[in-house]
Amino acid sequence: MISFARRRWGQSLPWPLRQLAHTFFRAYFNMSGCIFCKIVAGTAKADIVHRDEQVTAFHDRHPAAPTHILIVPNRHIDSLNALAEADAPLVGHMFIVAKQLAAQAGIEEGGYRLIINTGTHGGQTVFHLHLHLMGGQAMRAMG
Ligand code: AMP
Ligand code: ZN
Repeated sequence: MISFARRRWGQSLPWPLRQLAHTFFRAYFNMSGCIFCKIVAGTAKADIVHRDEQVTAFHDRHPAAPTHILIVPNRHIDSLNALAEADAPLVGHMFIVAKQLAAQAGIEEGGYRLIINTGTHGGQTVFHLHLHLMGGQAMRAMG
């Protein structure tokens, strides 16, 4: 569907407009099919524990630890690979919210793990940037 639309529209447009159209189609189809965008927009259900102007946090649907919360930017960003220099404050905010939610969940003292899976080899399955906050049990050492 995407490649068909790209072909039909793309070939009749001058190069800069073609690039713009490609960018638009990619963004539109990524966002309209993105479960985390839907959760942020309130059109898909989630157990939301925090929401502000930059991020939304909710319980993972398949928790891998007693506390397993996902912190996601409200704006669609595919993955860590798609971050720009200007996104540094957003990323900092995601970590600050993670720390606050850890305190709120009572796992601050015991400790917790923050994970950002990136790309297929990184084990990323939802291509909307998210920070996993996991705790409430001793995690296995990585080394
Ligand atoms: P990752 O494998 O790092 O991309 O993590 C994606 C995470 O999103 C997984 O832990 C899933 O269990 C979780 N997940 C997927 N869909 C939903 C959903 N609708 N609500 C809550 N968590 C979800
Ligand atoms: Zn999204």
